[in-house]
Amino acid sequence: MQIQNYINGQLHPAQSGGWLDNFNPSNGQVYSQIPDSDAADVQAAVEAAEAAFPAWSTCGVNERYRILHRIADLIRERLEELAQAESKDSGKAITTSRTVDIPRAEANIRFFATAILHFGSESHQMEGMAVNYTLRQPIGVVGCISPWNLPLYLFTWKIAPALAAGNCVVAKPSELTPMTGFLLSKICIEAGLPAGVLNIVHGLGPKAGQAIVEHPKIKAVSFTGGTSTGRILARTAAPMFKKLSLELGGKNPNVIFADCNFEEAVSTTVRSSFANNGQICLCGSRVYIERPIYEKFRDELVRRAKNLKVGDPFDAGTDLGSLVSKQHREKVQGYLALAREEGGTVLCGGEPVELPGELSGGYYLSPAVVEGLPNACRTNQEEIFGPVVTLQPFDTEEEALALANGVEYGLASTIWTSDISRAARVAERIQAGIVWINCWMVRDLRTPFGGVKNSGVGREGGTEALRFFTEAKNVCIKY
Ligand code: NDP
Repeated sequence: MQIQNYINGQLHPAQSGGWLDNFNPSNGQVYSQIPDSDAADVQAAVEAAEAAFPAWSTCGVNERYRILHRIADLIRERLEELAQAESKDSGKAITTSRTVDIPRAEANIRFFATAILHFGSESHQMEGMAVNYTLRQPIGVVGCISPWNLPLYLFTWKIAPALAAGNCVVAKPSELTPMTGFLLSKICIEAGLPAGVLNIVHGLGPKAGQAIVEHPKIKAVSFTGGTSTGRILARTAAPMFKKLSLELGGKNPNVIFADCNFEEAVSTTVRSSFANNGQICLCGSRVYIERPIYEKFRDELVRRAKNLKVGDPFDAGTDLGSLVSKQHREKVQGYLALAREEGGTVLCGGEPVELPGELSGGYYLSPAVVEGLPNACRTNQEEIFGPVVTLQPFDTEEEALALANGVEYGLASTIWTSDISRAARVAERIQAGIVWINCWMVRDLRTPFGGVKNSGVGREGGTEALRFFTEAKNVCIKY
């Protein structure tokens, strides 16, 4: 099967005629090909987007709302087809695709379709003299680049606000997980999205992705991916004065105080450690436990991690499917070897899981819990992005904060305690863009989403995203 680019409302191969293999990570087999696009395809996409911009940006919010809703309706109708495609492309458990990825893609589009109807701007009065009002106008052609871990979910999280605000988009999904982006192209055609409003170019990051970032007509880029890639983007885009939103890596702390609700803390920590094989930027990977409950919590976490079912992604009873690629599994295994070298003890997991029959070539790995490492070691400092968590005990609130803040990242964090004052105190001082108290992954799409330090620049979500995808123009009238 050959995936196609979606440019100017039509499906095309890459102009160069080149193709890249697309693997099914659950069995290690090539099952489709994607266009190996380059700057020429991006150029065609930009030209289509520029041509579509005048009509799309002025058709009115009600029309944009109508079409985006239609796209969301079609995603809902095709939920099962999209979920199957997502699991085949990424190896994730089908239950995750069915209950998280695809419903959230639908919700993203519906949310921003509606949000634009309520999007207002400011007016500042200078009494007796003048009035200012601020126009928030679409930017023009914008770029959206997303990673492989939550493919359609993160792709739509960017595209939806960009389109709702009246921009035309050139977007690239990860080359590892292109399939649902391709299916979205077909949905957009069926929904009647005007040609050129959304263009999806498939291919390699350093080639097709870089061409998007470098293109002088693309005035803003919204990127989610690794911190080192974010650095490359910033280097390219900053001298061109592009607007940039960078959602980057994380090394998120879970801080567990002894007065927590033990059952909720441990069951949620299992999820926040191993959901989607730990391949969610919001997963907690450093678990800090107050000493009086350290051993009890550790033993229960290990017991439950051992009970997670690693297996066929298409089996509804599977907890963890395969990792996304052979290279990624090797990277995660490399970190487990490093953890041992650094003096850590792997309490469970971290072993490749060999499944029988058709799934024998898949990239499965059992979930790992590691203890005995200092905070400053590489295992505790670098993003692993796999089913691996480390445990460390702490004695005081001050120490917990120093440990939690002792990394270069600052995306998300969780705090478990029944002391509301302590929760508020720690939340105020923790260095993260997102703090969950006694919960994890409770998401309201209106809230600001993003990180501090090396986890990125800018915020997505709600009004923040609509502001990113618009330019503010102040108009002053003297009377
Ligand atoms: P990458 O940074 O490798 O890739 C992200 C996207 O950028 C892909 O589409 C990739 O294409 C593309 N890309 C790569 N190089 C360039 C370039 N030079 N110019 C333009 N685009 C480029 O990240 P991963 O796909 O490996 O995703 C995992 C990372 O994403 C983790 O670090 C994770 O923490 C982070 N992430 C952050 C989130 C957040 O909200 N902060 C949410 C989810 C993930 P290709 O795939 O073809 O290489």
